[in-house]
Amino acid sequence: MIGDVAVRGAGRKGLGVFALRQFDKGEFIFRRRYGRIVANTRILSLTREERRHLCEIDYARSAVLLAPGCYLNHSCEPNAMRSGVKVFAWRRIRMGDEITIDYRLNAFSGDRWRCSCRAASCTGEIVGDFFSLSPSTPSEYLQFAPRFIQREYRRRLANSRKRVGVAGAPRRLSRVARGSGLRASR
Ligand SMILES: [Zn+2]
Repeated sequence: MIGDVAVRGAGRKGLGVFALRQFDKGEFIFRRRYGRIVANTRILSLTREERRHLCEIDYARSAVLLAPGCYLNHSCEPNAMRSGVKVFAWRRIRMGDEITIDYRLNAFSGDRWRCSCRAASCTGEIVGDFFSLSPSTPSEYLQFAPRFIQREYRRRLANSRKRVGVAGAPRRLSRVARGSGLRASR
């Protein structure tokens, strides 16, 4: 519940969301709230602050997140996951820990950001694209990805199986990905 978390300073990351009690793995933490939902083509009409707190709804729309959910920071090894607007503990979270999620789960733009999460696997840069995750990660994370990403994942998987099934068949995946407005990915 929202009463179980608090917004506090998180060093170089600015503000972050912190646990006011312990959460066991899989436990519901709190629900994120959406403010305005805008077409991605209208994002430039938002204020700078609103643009800092966007969440992808699908390929065409984004939501402006309200506090405290808008202050959830990214980690390359997060301790929480988001399913829709609900945030769950991905592993055990102790009282006082910062709660983090993986922004790559619902991202598809391919934008790059500096990352200061300090996780062991962090390269110092995030590629904002679900399909940039290491091959073993997506299947583990997939249930927490939004439906539009799950559909795209299954479509790519089916396409790659078709490719494998027909020896010497042309590699069509990147062409299809471009056609859907997605950045072609490996
Ligand atoms: Zn990182």
